[in-house]
This record gives sequence, structure tokens and C-alpha cells, in this order.
Amino acid sequence: MARNLTRSVRVGSVHIGGDHPIAVQSMAATRTQNIEATVHQVEIIQAAGGDIVRIAVDNPKDVEALAEVRSRTNANLSVDLQENYRLAPLVAPHVDKIRYNPGHLYHHEKGKPVRDKVAAIAEVAVRHDIALRVGVNCGSVDPALQAKFGDDDVAAMVESALEHTQILEDLGFTRFVVSLKDSDPMKVIEGNKRFSNARPEVPIHLGVTEAGMLPDGAIKTRIAFEQLVSRGIGDTIRVSLTLPFEEKGTEIAVGREILGDIEAGRYRSVPEFFGQELNIISCPSCSRVENEKFIELAAQVKEMAQYAKDHRVTIAVMGCRVNGPGETDDADLGLWCGPAFVNLKRGEKALGAYRYDEVLARLRAELDDVIREKAAAGV
Ligand code: SF4
Repeated sequence: MARNLTRSVRVGSVHIGGDHPIAVQSMAATRTQNIEATVHQVEIIQAAGGDIVRIAVDNPKDVEALAEVRSRTNANLSVDLQENYRLAPLVAPHVDKIRYNPGHLYHHEKGKPVRDKVAAIAEVAVRHDIALRVGVNCGSVDPALQAKFGDDDVAAMVESALEHTQILEDLGFTRFVVSLKDSDPMKVIEGNKRFSNARPEVPIHLGVTEAGMLPDGAIKTRIAFEQLVSRGIGDTIRVSLTLPFEEKGTEIAVGREILGDIEAGRYRSVPEFFGQELNIISCPSCSRVENEKFIELAAQVKEMAQYAKDHRVTIAVMGCRVNGPGETDDADLGLWCGPAFVNLKRGEKALGAYRYDEVLARLRAELDDVIREKAAAGV
């Protein structure tokens, strides 16, 4: 496959970019503090052929668990720091790469310039000989850029990625990859094409977030990867699927299957009706899931909503409060899970919190109403 000649970035024993094969990665969905389960999850992903395994860390106890996981595996480990970028110095000794989200740097130390926060993360990376990922998400873009670009969230996402690329390079740090993700494959295609045109030498991590369950999740991901990888864009990939813990290796298998097909020229034409009908997005789950009933709930939502399969409605089901509230804003109906209640939204409007055993009925009533409203508006 023709590939953009990006810089090569070492992450533990693998290299991302340059002329190295596209690395395939996944993320542990178990609670990080459940060390046995997390080590087992890492082993599942590694056994499936995963090159890098990502783990979420949100607090010092997670860091302690991470250290124990590190001591029990030789996998290349990456850690996902969302708003907890200040944990970077604690996390770095135990991992090969840290991902920070530019859109979450504003939560803490509000008076400190972003550049200084990035400089602190980069300094930690240099000191511990590890790589970084600038992980931009359309659903959690820096509020200042969101305000600047308004509805053009792809432009805001690209600007954020370009801005952080420049900050890191100005600091003399080049051992990083960039990702621009969304749950809409079209936005992923557009954002990555724009970024890659502007900075073709920067290695790119591709992914469609919250792609959901099989088979839809694999289809959405394939749509994006076919358009990008065939153009030489993409140095590492992650397929995000909502799966039971024991089946997490499927993300690696699906990723390798898509790459194999593209390499062999086996493109699957995208049905024209894709995106014109019921679209259920759900997060792949990670250690932040607040109630494991989330995976069952995502499947129940899909089953319940089948009666609406010919309607152009998007329902988003998210596992936690970190990304749930923001990532559901663009959906017609959104659910994000708390420990005992599921928060239901219609667009950006909160409708209330419901018990896991009552939320489906409430969702069904709202879905009926959304369908009626769209029919009246001729959508
Ligand atoms: Fe993890 Fe929350 Fe994102 Fe789901 S929405 S993958 S639980 S951070």
C-alpha cells in the first residue's frame, strides 16, 4: 500500500509511521483497579495480535494498579489521560505512550497557559523516553475553538490538532502521533484528510469513536479506513466496538481484516442508504464505565429500536460521565450511564435520570416522538 512518508515514532517495541506496518491497537475495558481482570484483558488483546494496549487512568489508585499491570505484562502500554493530565509524571514510568486530549486541558489550573501544560507533559515524555499522542475528539474539542468555528466542528478539530502539533514541535518534541476522531465516519475522513494535507509528515492514529456494536461498528470504521488508508493516511488504527470483555480481541481481528482487504484491493462499496436510516452509536467501553449493565443496555437499545430501522434517527449510548454528556449532544436521543441511573437526553436537552430497568420504556416514548416530529418536518 502506498503510505505517506511520516516520521517514525517508537512506542515500546513497535514503530508507528515511516515505512513500518500499520500498528493495530485496542483498549482495556475493565476497571483499571481490578488488576486481575485488566491483566487478563491485556493478554486477550495481545493474543489477538494487538501491537499496543491502552489503559485509562483517572486517579492515583489507578496509577498504582497500572504499575502492577506493568509488572505482569510485556505488552506495549499506552495510557489515556483525559482531564487528568497532571497524573502524567506518575503514569510515565509504567508506559510506552501517553495520550492527552487537547480539549480536556482547560478543566484544571485554569490560569496556566495551555502551552505550559503541554510543555510539562512533553518534558515528562522526554524524561521517561516515551511517546505521546495528541488525541483530538470532535465531541470534546477545546471550547475556545468550538466558539471560534461554531457548527464547523471538523474545522475546530483540525485546528486543535494543528495547534498542538505546532506547540510540541516548537518545544523540540517530535515523538508524537495525532488522532482526529468522531463517531461519524464522514467527519473522520474529512478531518484526517485536512490534517494530513497540512502536516503530511506527522504520523496519524485512525479511529471512529463509539462505532457501536457489530456489524454496524465495523461498517462505519471500514467506511473511514477505506477512504483514508487507501490514500496513504494512517499509521496506526484502533477499531472501537462495544463488546463483552472476553471478546475485546475482536477489535484487533476486525482492524486487521479491514487493513488486509484494503491492501488486497477488496473494497466493499458503502450502501447508499448508510447514514440515511437508524444509526445507533455506542462507546467501546473502558475502565470508566460506571455500571457494567451498560453493555447489556446498548444491546437492548438496539433491539428495542429495530421498529424504527427505516427512520433517520441517531441514538447514542455512552458508558460514563467523562465523555457521555458531550458525545451525546449531536444525537437525536442520547443515554449516558451513571452508577445507578441512566441519563436520557434529546439533543442537548437533559430529560432526566432513569433506573436501568425503566429507561428503555422512556426512550421508546421519546423515539416515537422524534419519528413523529421528523415526519411532520418531512425529514
Ligand atoms: Fe470509556 Fe466513557 Fe468513553 Fe465509554 S464514553 S469509552 S466509558 S470514556
